[in-house]
Parts: sequence; C-alpha cells; structure tokens
Amino acid sequence: MSYIYDLVLQNGTVNDPANNLSGRYDLAVKDGKIAEIAPSISAGAAKDAVDVTGLNIIPGLVDLHMHASAWLGGRFAHKMMALAGVTTALDMSGPINSVLEIAKDYGCGLNIACINYVRPGDTVKDTNPSRAELENLLTDNLKAGAIGFKILGGHYPLTPEATATAIDVALERGAYLAFHAGSLATRSDIGGFQEAIKITANRNIHMAHINSYCRGRVIDCHAEAEIALSLLKENPNIVSESYLSPVNGTSGECKNGVPLSQVTVMCLEARNYETTEAGLEKAIYEGWAQVNQELGGVVILTTGQKAVDYWRSKNTDITISFAVNPEIPRLRIATARRDDSSYVVDCISTDGGGIPRNVTVEKGLALVRLEAMSMNDFARKASYNPARILGLVDKGHFSIGADADITVVDTNRLKPVMTFNQGQAVMHRGRIFGTGSTIITTPAGKETVTARGLTPLVVDSKETPFCTLR
Ligand SMILES: [Zn+2]
Repeated sequence: MSYIYDLVLQNGTVNDPANNLSGRYDLAVKDGKIAEIAPSISAGAAKDAVDVTGLNIIPGLVDLHMHASAWLGGRFAHKMMALAGVTTALDMSGPINSVLEIAKDYGCGLNIACINYVRPGDTVKDTNPSRAELENLLTDNLKAGAIGFKILGGHYPLTPEATATAIDVALERGAYLAFHAGSLATRSDIGGFQEAIKITANRNIHMAHINSYCRGRVIDCHAEAEIALSLLKENPNIVSESYLSPVNGTSGECKNGVPLSQVTVMCLEARNYETTEAGLEKAIYEGWAQVNQELGGVVILTTGQKAVDYWRSKNTDITISFAVNPEIPRLRIATARRDDSSYVVDCISTDGGGIPRNVTVEKGLALVRLEAMSMNDFARKASYNPARILGLVDKGHFSIGADADITVVDTNRLKPVMTFNQGQAVMHRGRIFGTGSTIITTPAGKETVTARGLTPLVVDSKETPFCTLR
C-alpha cells in the first residue's frame, strides 16, 4: 500500500479557463503534475491534504513583466514575487548574468525567464547598431541563458532603423522580442506607441505595459487609451500586457548632471521639475519621485531627505518610481475586449518583481469583485495567456499531466494564500518554502544555466513559438 497522490487540495473553487472549469472541486497532484480533478478526492489518498474551503485555486500566476537583476529590481525580487502569489515570471531587461546570479543566490522556488536589453553604450556601441552587431549580441545573449531581446526604446532609444533591425534579428532566430515603445524619433508615449506599431509591421512581438503610453502626455489620457486599444485590435499579431499599479519604475541614474533614462526625464517634466540631477533630487525630496529602498528584506518606496541620502549613497544608480499611471486608462486597458470577446491586452503583468508593485492579485481580484472580469477571465489573463506567450505548454492550465503550478487566492481578502511550483510548496500564508530557481531558456542556453547550478526548463521556439496567441 502506498499513497496514490502526493498532495490534494480539498473543497476549493477551481478556475481553469483552458478547460472551461469553474466550480467546487478537489485537485490532486502526483510527481509534480496535475493528477486528478474531481468533486471529491479522499484525504487518505494523499500524503498531504490541505483544506482550502472558501478559497479559489487557479493555475500558478505568470508575470510577463518584472525585474529581478542588480540593475533593476534587485535581489529581493524573488521573495517579493513569491509573496505576491507568482510562480513564473519574465525579467524584462536583464542583464542576464545578474538575473542568473540573483536567481541562484536568492531563489524562492520560481520559474524565471529573462530577455536582455539592447542598450546604447552598454550592450551595443551606440544608438544605431548594425545588423552584425545585433546578431552577435543575440548569439551571446542566448548562449548566456536569455530567451531574446528587450528593446528599451522609451528609456534608451535607438534609431527607428536599428529598432526595426533588432526586431528582424530576433524574429529570424525565433527569439523572444519585447518592445518598450519609443525611438530617437519619438518618446515613451502614445506617439511612440503609434510608431512602434508601424515598425513592428505585423509581426509576432510582445509590446510592453500598454497603460504606460496612456498617461495623458500628448492628448487626454482616455483618448490615448482608446487609440492604443484600437491599434492592438488592428494588429492581432502583437501580444501585450498592462499593469494595475499607480506607480511606474524607472532608473534614477544620472551622468553629467542629467538622468540617463528618458522615462525619468518625462516623469520630471510631468510635474514641471527641471530635467536634471538637481531636479530629480528636488523631486525625491518633495515626494514626487519615490526611491526604491531595500529595507527589512524587501523593497519599499521612500521620499524626503533620507531617500535623497540613500539615492546618493548608491551613486544615483537605483530604481525610482513616480505615480504617473492614471486610474481610468489602467482599468479600461485591463478590461477591454475584442469583437470575439477575447481581451485586447492579453495579460495582467506587474512590471514589478523587485519594484514594489506586485499587485496582480490585490487589484485583479478587485476587478473580479467589481464584476469587471470573472475569476476565469482573471486566471486567463494572469496565467494561461502569459504561459502560452512564453511557449510554456505545460503551464497556465490544469489539464491532467500539466505542471502542478498552483496559486490559491482569497477573493475576500484580495490576497494570495499559497502557491506550489510543480507540486512543491513555494509560499504558504506569507511564509516562503521554495528554494532555488528554474530558468526558462532556449536550447542555446541550457549548458550555461546548468553550469551555473540552476535548473533549466528549455523552450524550443521551433516547436512552441514565443509571442503567439492568435
Ligand atoms: Zn519593465
């Protein structure tokens, strides 16, 4: 005699949009996979039985936009995501070496993928890198374990021509391509987004944080949101996400007396601060710019003189947040639908990780409570769609044999309660049990990931292409 299952969750409400399941079920796990979903599974059949009466069981949250590198997000990102109910996440900038280092030293049992930035003066020589330079960069990135490129146009723009070439180079190789709209010709706003749509020219890419182009910088923010939505409807090849937090996250780094990130410059302009290092210091002191400060093992937002001192102590090279995301575009963009009733914006992301805005559960469940979306809609946007965009065919759903990546949420308290990654406990009521990290990589990166003592999860985009939903 032995146990049939390793784990059974009893008396929960299962929400699995891929299998059109929504109702009271018990869910059993065996060898890290979903083994059975039935109205009743005996507690005696499993080594471990957990009563989740009153709670909802959804496929593990997949955050398609976060930061967990020394450059952005920092070392506590894994812990902050685990506490927020996430089981899988995509770091949207790298650098890949730092992402892997943090995943090794600070891992909390999550699945992590990374795309590496194309940044002038850093990963490429200048704002107009050649095709050959971009090809070499991609080869190096894939070998190092990343799954593709992030174009940081809004922050560190390239020429429109080089932007188009970077997209070509990534897609020719089947690599992942995400684009923060903006180039040397435009900025990180609705104008930049319109240009980005043209540059993308009907190809399969991931357009980052749609809400961030709708802050009312060019015209009224509501009108900007409608423009963004109609462009996405006309370009079904583009997959996208938006986040629900009021604050953004950008770089506080200054050189020669000015902030290096164009987003930081725009955030200062938005409240008529000087777009200089002195202007940023004043904005931190007065509270418009909020410093991301490590405190007590997590990152919090701080302002005032102490925040200025912290920023200075790090030679300005830290993350800064501004409350620049108006609420109505955020809600409209998260809930807008296409004619076939699928979502215009495919995923709820956070752009969080180590930036303190991992609010998918808190704010997403608030939308469910408002009846702006159903629980199955929420699970689709926060798990199933992003898993498919990452080419993770065994995640985001509860088909028998799928990975037992599970997030249990409390819809009354708007909080994640427990998570499992392949059947292993990651988080339970605010305590973290997960260790290590699994790195989602391509065949080219498997060796590096293994050599660094991390567990590879290989996605071969020839079989399951990235950024493909429609
Ligand atoms: Zn980001």
